Amino acid sequence: MYAQIKRLAESWKVDGHFEKKLLENEEKTLAEYNIKLSKDILAKFCDKNDLKSFQQCTGPYGNKVCAKFDAYVFSRTFPLIKSVLEQPTSFGRWTKRQHNRNLLQFSYPENIFYHFFNTELSKGCTNQCWFCGLSAPKYEKYYHYDHEVWCALLRCMQQLLGNDAMQTNLCYWASEPFDNPDYEKFILDYKNVLGVLPYTQTASAAKNIERTRAFLKINDEARFQEAGFSVLSKEDLMTIYHNFSAEELEKIEVRIQFNHKCRHKVCFGRARKEKKQESAGEYFWTLLGFLVNMVDKKIQLTMPAIATDARPCGGIILDEKYFTTIDDFKEKVELMIKNNMIDKILKSDIRLLA
Ligand code: SF4
Repeated sequence: MYAQIKRLAESWKVDGHFEKKLLENEEKTLAEYNIKLSKDILAKFCDKNDLKSFQQCTGPYGNKVCAKFDAYVFSRTFPLIKSVLEQPTSFGRWTKRQHNRNLLQFSYPENIFYHFFNTELSKGCTNQCWFCGLSAPKYEKYYHYDHEVWCALLRCMQQLLGNDAMQTNLCYWASEPFDNPDYEKFILDYKNVLGVLPYTQTASAAKNIERTRAFLKINDEARFQEAGFSVLSKEDLMTIYHNFSAEELEKIEVRIQFNHKCRHKVCFGRARKEKKQESAGEYFWTLLGFLVNMVDKKIQLTMPAIATDARPCGGIILDEKYFTTIDDFKEKVELMIKNNMIDKILKSDIRLLA
């Protein structure tokens, strides 16, 4: 039932004519969107004499049903984030200091869903969305799967940052997860080594239905089962709706990206350039820690910041190094921690960020 109502709410947001169509021909409209709700339930959920009451439930981040869905995800992951910020290590103290800074600079910082170690398994992104907050460059190539190297790298970061810091991360950033043909192998290794399947948000779910079906099976076994589909066109949405039932997508957050009215686009990266607006205290860059591009063998230490012309994506790169082997990787990360995460701050260390 939850899955069907979730799809009803998504459809309402996607199609400005949905309400009119539903009023004119309920059966045909529900079939068009592959929604299976009985007349009784539909009547209970949206009173046709007062349809506006349903619309009043919607806000920039979705309707009541999806808001509940978000709250459910957050309630399970925030204790992990808090535990990292309280860690009595150089990394823990550094993240806490940056979090305190974020409390001062962002307008609603309490809910920042931090990642502490993200990896890009390809260079660039094939989708090139106009609104890309990370201004992902054009796709160049992907990193070839190497089980030994990948697992060794994960174990190394687990040892350096602690297990909790490895639970909320992504295996993509300014990249599309499905651009790597072995993405599923990488995340299954992640789960085997670290005990949690990383969250996946893909904009390519409609490109290869069989692959997406297989991914959904993997995702079903995850500890935190939610994943997200960014839907870039109505055609893609219909392809997804007609290939997957509402129940199959129950744990998938369907993010409609093609209808400006149904999804607020934050002013970062390409969207900032396009909208020519400031981000007004909003944050977008949620990576507080390390970003590793596996194609370039590049490690960056990074943290969230207010977007400016000089850093339109709202992230600051504090340090950058390249690695060759896993031993070299470990050495470089340790050096970055030593150089940037001082345990004691002297007055002379304090400087204001522009
Ligand atoms: S928003 Fe995501 S899918 Fe779109 S260009 Fe950026 S990284 Fe790629």
